[in-house]
Amino acid sequence: MNMKPTLKRGWCPSLFKPMETGDGFLVRIKPFLSRITSEQAHFIADTANRLGNGLINLSQKANLQLRGFSRQNTLRIIPEVIYNHLSAPTSYQEKKRNLLVSPLAALDPLCDPATEWIAQHLQTMLLRTNGLSRLSGKFSFIVDGGGQYPLTDCFSDINLRAYQGQWVIQLGHTQKVMVCSAEKAPLFVMKLAKYLAQHDPRRLIHDPEADKLFEIFETQLINYNPPPLKRSSSVGVIGENLGIGVGIPYGLMHADDLHQLAEVAQHHGDGMLHLTPWRSIILSHCSEELLSFFPRLITDEQDFKSHIIACPGKPYCPRSAINILQDAPILAQTWGNNRGYLHISGCPKGCALPDVNSITLCATGNGYNIIINGKADTDTVYMHLSLPETVAFLKHHPAPSSIKNSSENSLQ
Ligand code: SF4
Repeated sequence: MNMKPTLKRGWCPSLFKPMETGDGFLVRIKPFLSRITSEQAHFIADTANRLGNGLINLSQKANLQLRGFSRQNTLRIIPEVIYNHLSAPTSYQEKKRNLLVSPLAALDPLCDPATEWIAQHLQTMLLRTNGLSRLSGKFSFIVDGGGQYPLTDCFSDINLRAYQGQWVIQLGHTQKVMVCSAEKAPLFVMKLAKYLAQHDPRRLIHDPEADKLFEIFETQLINYNPPPLKRSSSVGVIGENLGIGVGIPYGLMHADDLHQLAEVAQHHGDGMLHLTPWRSIILSHCSEELLSFFPRLITDEQDFKSHIIACPGKPYCPRSAINILQDAPILAQTWGNNRGYLHISGCPKGCALPDVNSITLCATGNGYNIIINGKADTDTVYMHLSLPETVAFLKHHPAPSSIKNSSENSLQ
């Protein structure tokens, strides 16, 4: 008999549709083109303190999730967020706007120069196009210009990628891709999205046959074989004078941390904060010594905390069986910094990392299940281990050279 709990995966919180969690309602802000100004950052931090409980998650979609709102305050915040250019004006428009862009598109000299243009145009077309309402609110897009911060291991329903000096469209994880010019790329993507909305409004993210959809273009496809992923750290000094990056421990920060980031960006950088899907924030044109302004955040990629991917757990999520943030420092210390990522999940849903990972701890009502090369809901023989037993297991777990290691990011 299958004893696995039924997982509700089909719904995502937004500004217009907040989600009730263990510490009140959660409101999601989706920054345009994955970046905010220092003024917007101050506004978000003020709002989190004034109307929420001051806690903010940075998600793997580079969105900010403000926690601890009353139902009444979730309504108060909507016009303020729109006024500050952090949301589309209507719920319908906001629902379509799930777009992740190379975080340093405009700064990284190795990122394809068309990246910013493509992202801007795609965003505008998404906002203006009618007839997409049948697509899931989770239907998402990526514009990956490569360079020093490629999104090769991030996947959405429709991925636009710079590849071998040209642009390709990839559907979900499929290997057959369509070549197109940068100028036509947004048009092709919109045609695909409209076709799906009108004929077959499904997600493509995990559809192994998604590339069959290209038949509507009657075009030749090529094989997509990206080179092994090589990405610079998004924590510490970024590139040559590009700026500095700070990691958000376990994806959760306080509004005061965001105020501080905004302050430094405003007075020492160019006033921009770039949000990454690796739960870090890059302050462009800031210099190394400014990293000392952030003692509570991660400023060194060797920091053990930056090798943990965790959901907020109890008490923030009512589904969580364990206070993850209480256990996380102990687990991080044990895991260290040379074995890839340790995924800690409060329940089998695996919100923080829905993909396969080399090792995942899934909290149960009675300790942790340990899953090797699987997802949080994968069956395992290592069940209900106490924290000391889990620590002992991790101490003897092999280095990633002998195991599959993945930090793939499927934008669910
Ligand atoms: S994975 Fe974590 S955040 Fe997601 S539902 Fe489970 S406990 Fe909640």
